[in-house]
Amino acid sequence: MENKMDISNLTMEELEAYIEELGEKKFHSKQIYKWIHKIGVTHFDEMTDISKSLREKLKERAYILNMEVIEVQISKKDGTMKFLIRLNDNAAIESVLMKYNYGNTICVSTQVGCKMGCKFCASTKEGYERNLSGSEIEGQIQTIQRYTNERISNVVYMGIGEPLDNYDNVIKSIKLINHPLGLNIGARHLSLSTCGLVPNIYQLADENTQCTLSISLHATLDEKRKEIMPIANRYSIKEILDACKYYIKVTGRRISFEYALIYGKNDSYEDAMRLVKLLRGMIAHVNLIPINEIKEKEYKKATEKSVESFMNTLNSCGIVTTVRRELGSDIDAACGQLRKKYIDKNLD
Ligand code: SAH
Repeated sequence: MENKMDISNLTMEELEAYIEELGEKKFHSKQIYKWIHKIGVTHFDEMTDISKSLREKLKERAYILNMEVIEVQISKKDGTMKFLIRLNDNAAIESVLMKYNYGNTICVSTQVGCKMGCKFCASTKEGYERNLSGSEIEGQIQTIQRYTNERISNVVYMGIGEPLDNYDNVIKSIKLINHPLGLNIGARHLSLSTCGLVPNIYQLADENTQCTLSISLHATLDEKRKEIMPIANRYSIKEILDACKYYIKVTGRRISFEYALIYGKNDSYEDAMRLVKLLRGMIAHVNLIPINEIKEKEYKKATEKSVESFMNTLNSCGIVTTVRRELGSDIDAACGQLRKKYIDKNLD
């Protein structure tokens, strides 16, 4: 595979150019794209409407990404499935399949590891290895559809990694996922979560992909945010909110703010009131996440009572707020936990 090119990582336009470069008719690219991205084949020989000679030509030069499921955990509580997936270089990533009544949602990883260093997050514990390619991001959907035979209708970029720190490949994955001859999942069914890389939020707004933007805010004062999220040393809450306002202005889309409630850290009435002040007047939605306690970190989950009063305070001040349903709490569902366990086991 060393010198071969990953053909699944080509957008429709790139595939057209590639097929023409091979001296073949452009329309074959539509057939090939459909085989790879809609039907999900992993061998050129499965492309029955492509001539043998073209298949041979492609086989010599290219391969179709095929990632392997190493482990699956299924929640007994809610059917959430967590997949540990092996990439071609043996790195491992996680993807999660959640079943909601409006359809199947998959949570994809965007990097192997993460550089951001959020104190409460397992993904960051082993540091950062590399970016995923566009096809490795899209391929998580292909792999899970093949494995479960179920169709996926929504995608959230909330797995391992910081999507906006792998900007170009994430945009490519959106194009691959969107295309009508492929998975055909519309941008409005995609949601991208960031810890707040300000310049890239502006860039994403100008891209006008129509995907939903989620901001991992988690604190209402810069000083407090710095204690739990190192990225806060680079960008202030004000700078993030200004970028969000620009995103709303350009795309007309509502922004979702994630706020992980940590016992005694960011769960007080004063915190709630500061959040109200920050978000007042914005088209926003707040998603409260009772923090998922991970083995290596010191933070404790906020009490049920404080989660409820935090939500009530926000709602009564006109900020639409929900508490994220904890899916898969029995299967290490917090980002990066399964991969971390896998790495620990293989290092023993
Ligand atoms: N890097 C991106 C996306 C990945 S994390 C981001 O920061 O947004 C997806 C969400 O889960 C983020 O809001 C993140 O802060 C949150 N998260 C990570 N670890 C968590 C934990 N242990 N408990 C609750 N939420 C967590």
